[in-house]
Amino acid sequence: DASATTFPLSFALTPSQAARADAEREAVLADPGFGKHFTDHMVTIDWTVEAGWHDARVVPYGPLQIDPASAVLHYAQEIFEGLKAYRHADGSIWTFRPEKNAERLQRSARRLALPELSVADFIESVTQLVRIDSSWVPTAAEASLYLRPFMIANENFLGVRAAQTVAFHVIASPAGAYFSNGVAPVKIWLSSEYSRAGRGGTGAAKCGGNYAASLLPQMEAAENGCAQVLFLDGETGTHVDELGGMNVFFVYGTDRLVTPRLTGTILEGVTRDSIIQLAQDRGMTVDERDVSIAEWRDGVASGAITEVFACGTAAVITPISQLKAADFEIGDADSPAGTITMALREELTDIQHGRRPDRHGWLTRL
Ligand code: PMP
Repeated sequence: DASATTFPLSFALTPSQAARADAEREAVLADPGFGKHFTDHMVTIDWTVEAGWHDARVVPYGPLQIDPASAVLHYAQEIFEGLKAYRHADGSIWTFRPEKNAERLQRSARRLALPELSVADFIESVTQLVRIDSSWVPTAAEASLYLRPFMIANENFLGVRAAQTVAFHVIASPAGAYFSNGVAPVKIWLSSEYSRAGRGGTGAAKCGGNYAASLLPQMEAAENGCAQVLFLDGETGTHVDELGGMNVFFVYGTDRLVTPRLTGTILEGVTRDSIIQLAQDRGMTVDERDVSIAEWRDGVASGAITEVFACGTAAVITPISQLKAADFEIGDADSPAGTITMALREELTDIQHGRRPDRHGWLTRL
């Protein structure tokens, strides 16, 4: 099977001749925003049916050459990942559960008929990039270097079938603290017209097409003053699936979390999985099950649901103050961040940034 690499790839290195000067890089790192600035290098690995994965290399960051007939431009045969590198107080650089992202990329690859990259080669590719661009990992509290691995079908062929040539890349982008003025609860918009995923579809895969389909409902959310869009399950339209780019949790009382179960239509978030573990460590009960909009409304009204939050790599944990729909609202837009939400957020960011012991072995040194 040419898609499974049987030995670790070795990476050739071509250092950039156009690496940004220290002053220019420091200016970017002083206010990086999100996803706007990119480091001096990138990783490329090629794949063909005949040769499997080959020609792993670290090269200067720059435009890709894409033939207009390249399959990805027509049929969206593309998958990606998102994880972060964190600088600890002693200067060392770490990433968080990269094997989970590697495994998810493999699952996405299977669904999109793309070749699987081994977990070892995935981790080595992010390690290579972070090592050469280590000066781009911010030192500021809560800042990080966002890593974006992605895989595209680049065969120049318009027939609709799995491409026979593919490329994997990793790029990196410094990211500032997501909430610059403290963690602020957000309102989210219930999309009643659109769904994100259907039974047997690509909801559990991290493929670009899912995000293209979320943009119109996301615009609707923004027009209604909401930060993100909430999607219901595509089949019955009654249960909470997830947000456009985050998973959702409900806090019941002080000792119970409820989050939608993994049905194949939602993304299996690494943050979601980590929160389940941290909550169980605290002695909380975690239920993975369907949550209907009626349960959400009744739970908030009765006080049984005490907090609601969203989670994902980018913002870690975001408190949700209110769900808005065309004809009703649940929760109070002015409600403050909940204490359990904030305690879990602090614990997770403390582990990631090296301020608390990594008792589950989640960190990998780069
Ligand atoms: N759901 C969707 C649709 C997402 O895009 C993301 C971000 N990757 C998540 C959930 C959260 O996943 P993670 O915690 O792995 O970032």
